[in-house]
Amino acid sequence: MGKSVCVIGGGIAGLNAGIELLQHGYDVTLFEKNNEVGGLCSGYSVDGYLIDACLHWLMGTKKGTTLNALWRNIDALNDEVEVSHLPYFCTAIYQGRKVTFGRDLDEEEARWKAISPKDEEAIEGFFESVRGMSQLWVLTQSEKHPRLSMKLISTLPNPARIYGAIRKSRKDYAKRFTHPALRFAIQNAMTGYNNAFFFLLVYGLFASGDGDVPYGGAEAMVRRIKARYLSLGGKLYLNSPVTRLKGDGKRIEYAESGKNLVKADYFVAGLDPHIIFTSLLEGKRMPHTYKHLDKDIKDHTVSGCFCVYVRVKGFKGDIDTPTAIVIPKVRVGKKKVGSLLVRPYGFDPLVQRKGATVISLFVDQDQDDYAYFLKKKNPKKENRRIVKELVESFLNAYPQYRGKTEVLDSFGPLELHERTGTSFGSIQSYSFTAKGSFYSNSGKVSGLDNLYFCGQWNRAIGGTPTALLTSHEVVKKLLRKEHGIVHKGAKLLSKVTKRKRK
Ligand SMILES: Cc1cc2nc3c(=O)[nH]c(=O)nc-3n(C[C@H](O)[C@H](O)[C@H](O)COP(=O)(O)OP(=O)(O)OC[C@H]3O[C@@H](n4cnc5c(N)ncnc54)[C@H](O)[C@@H]3O)c2cc1C
Repeated sequence: MGKSVCVIGGGIAGLNAGIELLQHGYDVTLFEKNNEVGGLCSGYSVDGYLIDACLHWLMGTKKGTTLNALWRNIDALNDEVEVSHLPYFCTAIYQGRKVTFGRDLDEEEARWKAISPKDEEAIEGFFESVRGMSQLWVLTQSEKHPRLSMKLISTLPNPARIYGAIRKSRKDYAKRFTHPALRFAIQNAMTGYNNAFFFLLVYGLFASGDGDVPYGGAEAMVRRIKARYLSLGGKLYLNSPVTRLKGDGKRIEYAESGKNLVKADYFVAGLDPHIIFTSLLEGKRMPHTYKHLDKDIKDHTVSGCFCVYVRVKGFKGDIDTPTAIVIPKVRVGKKKVGSLLVRPYGFDPLVQRKGATVISLFVDQDQDDYAYFLKKKNPKKENRRIVKELVESFLNAYPQYRGKTEVLDSFGPLELHERTGTSFGSIQSYSFTAKGSFYSNSGKVSGLDNLYFCGQWNRAIGGTPTALLTSHEVVKKLLRKEHGIVHKGAKLLSKVTKRKRK
């Protein structure tokens, strides 16, 4: 057996790190605080109905991409796994007018122009940017350009259009359009408070043929990943939170989990940095990036959600997946919201049962909403009110399902925080806004030789692809260190220092 690694956290990042390290001959032990792995990427059954509490789209389902190879390596995807190739990234309905975001961009551009000929210029600009974004995705899938950067954007045909979206909120970007249905669609037809750049990017990726959903959703996907981890000889401790990382100031010597002190040569934390630095390292060594992001969190707002899952009997397939609808204002967290994202899971045969379909009702949340729920004396009562009002809004929009709809489950920022420890109850990491920017963290802890961290918080936007990619990068770093491969940059630097010394 090779050297030992203790992996902390059984989300996508931790599981991927564990599998890749086992494949390189390491002896891996993974500690997960919950009774099951998956973290934010999870699915479970309620009353026999499958709830997918994560995957709206999975980037990397497109064959031939780097992400696809990584997902296949951990068996998240394989040749037997069927995926649903949804026709729309999203749709929006505003006063009876339907706006679609389909895969064929030429067709959509023509459709949008028919809705609002007056907006021709803005529509052309929008679709040109989306086309640019699909190319950006192709570029980021090469080993040469593993991540988004300004430099990479500058290689696109019309970078100015894309630069213009980077620091704009979707609300501000939507003002380029005069037609209210187009404005509503841009602002509301996707989950997440993220900015216009992110919206264009994800739609671009989807239009390029990526972003399908594997059948069985997050639950089946995580089950396959876990099976691969165990089949490679990985050891797994569930219900085993790590509470401290102890060392001599230069190296971590052991992790404390309950009464166990776990020694290892390396430690990889697939965790939210707030848990690592505030709790496990007792307030020490928090990277400057996160201090800065937290201080100005309004400029880097995080994305959370309030989700209600209902089962609808006799669903007729008359709601697209997903559809943004206008609703009378409902207070959800700190804000009153006027739109709801409705997501029927009828596309997945594994989610159907006894003629009923699961539908999720999704509302965006952020750090302020999390704080609002925290202050509530009785957050459960507040949740019940919100669930009731959101379901009523859904039934007002789709009265054909009145009497046929039952609530299966719901969760908001507090429940997500409780489940995984995710800061602010968020489902994605910090975004970039008018004053914010891209950020990225190497996953190395300054001054500590054998501790690495990875996961969605290592880089702006978050999501499962970020968890996967940052974990892959951290394993590469660990291998490089272990096998003494010197970075090209480091070689150059040592030559320069030698020359100076002479
Ligand atoms: C409703 C919802 C919808 C989403 N939609 C999408 C989508 O469509 N596409 C997409 O790509 N992503 C989506 N996401 C986001 C995605 O799920 C996350 O970005 C991703 O799963 C994060 O993975 P991670 O490994 O970085 O972190 P996490 O999933 O947070 O994993 C961390 C793990 O560490 C464990 N842990 C915490 N503290 C300790 C401790 N002290 N000791 C041991 N273990 C500990 C946690 O329990 C957890 O299992 C969604 C998430 C939600 C909730």
